[in-house]
Amino acid sequence: MPKNEKADAFVTEITPRSQDFSRWYLDVVRRAELADYSPVKGCMVIRPYGYAIWELLQQALDTRIKAAGHVNAYFPLFIPESLLTKEAEHVEGFAPQVAYVTHGGGEELEERLIVRPTSEAIFGTMYAKWIQSWRDLPVLINQWANVVRWEKVTRPFLRTTEFLWQEGHTAHETEEEAEEETLKILDLYAEVCESMLAMPVIKGRKSESEKFAGALRTYSIEALMGDGRALQAGTSHNLGQNFAKAFDITFQARDKSVQHVWGTSWGVTTRLIGAVIMTHGDDSGLVLPPRVAPYQVVIVPIPRGNWQETVLPKAREIQQQLVAGGVRVMLDDRDSYTPGWKFAEWELRGVPLRLEIGPKDIEKSSVLVARRDTREKLAVPMDGLVGRIRELLENIQRTLFDRAIKFREERTQRVNDYETFKQVMDGRPGFVVAPWCGSAACEAQIKSDTQATIRNMPTTAATPSGHCIRCDHPAVADAWFAKAY
Ligand SMILES: [Zn+2]
Repeated sequence: MPKNEKADAFVTEITPRSQDFSRWYLDVVRRAELADYSPVKGCMVIRPYGYAIWELLQQALDTRIKAAGHVNAYFPLFIPESLLTKEAEHVEGFAPQVAYVTHGGGEELEERLIVRPTSEAIFGTMYAKWIQSWRDLPVLINQWANVVRWEKVTRPFLRTTEFLWQEGHTAHETEEEAEEETLKILDLYAEVCESMLAMPVIKGRKSESEKFAGALRTYSIEALMGDGRALQAGTSHNLGQNFAKAFDITFQARDKSVQHVWGTSWGVTTRLIGAVIMTHGDDSGLVLPPRVAPYQVVIVPIPRGNWQETVLPKAREIQQQLVAGGVRVMLDDRDSYTPGWKFAEWELRGVPLRLEIGPKDIEKSSVLVARRDTREKLAVPMDGLVGRIRELLENIQRTLFDRAIKFREERTQRVNDYETFKQVMDGRPGFVVAPWCGSAACEAQIKSDTQATIRNMPTTAATPSGHCIRCDHPAVADAWFAKAY
């Protein structure tokens, strides 16, 4: 089969989003070359185009984490089994997902090692050595790492056995400081999701049954995906003194008494790439917000006449101008593909702007610009092109965010009685805000009746006045319910 023909078949293989969202997602991940399956079940290979998105996101997070006073370090991949078992709730929560190393150097190990599912145990062990006095506090350390959680059902980026993330671990003098840190990071995560990924999130507290194993309180950011299901996009935990007590992290306080530190931990993962795909993608494939797009602009020269002498030099000149203007550009000058194929290909891969340039455009001293988000096409004069392109990129970033907000608002309903709740959850998906009494039994019953879980309870919400939709007892919170990933 000639290369172009094979490639054409390849591009048209995306299942329509409306037909099968889950298939559409997997098609986009593979066809856009974000990730591929690996020989290890449940583990994915993040391909260069997907990894470039991660790098942009990582830079944005890292800059903000450091600006908030944290420093990076690196802790080992392996943790002695005995350390994980020190915090009872923690081990109970993670034991089913832990991978063990039993042999090394051809011999059976005296003590099994676990491959970290998260690093509280090893940070705690080291903090116990490093922290002696109130003068040593706070300790604010972040690490960029991979973790392993053995999963039965996996999906690229959303749930994989190994994934990449950052995990922050902090130790403080007082409970108030730890709570302040936990919420500060939650705000930081929300800001990154909204400004970089153009993905609006709901910030709130998790219920007791959904909190992190071993934490005092867990907060999350929750986003609504294109199919109306919610996705937990990041979590921040106030660990209280639970880990400090388990790992004996004590310090001499200002009044000379010996006290346990107050801890936090928090993380976001490569799952955010899955979130961006499902928030903005359409039937033609990926739609990337410009701030996380590996290429913000693709230039496609139109091959007419002696284009390599006329069109191509002009295209290169434009590329250089854009690069100098801080724009990430790809010039697709491959002559083995037709312009039509390239249009479809870069549309599928979500590039925010496409510039078409041919002999006629050069005559008119303009280029044809196509927006990925609205599919609008406009002729833009070459004079002042860089400024105009930058404006358009900003406009696309804003348009995608506004669109996602509108989508969420249209799919968020307030409900005060259980019959309506069940009907709404059975029909059009999305968020349902409803009063809840705080009982785990009600929460479990609602989940078994409707598959909906409490995503979180916004910290900014007013005190609820209503009664629990399930049991009619006075409500303690307005909870945001949804079917979730
Ligand atoms: Zn209730």
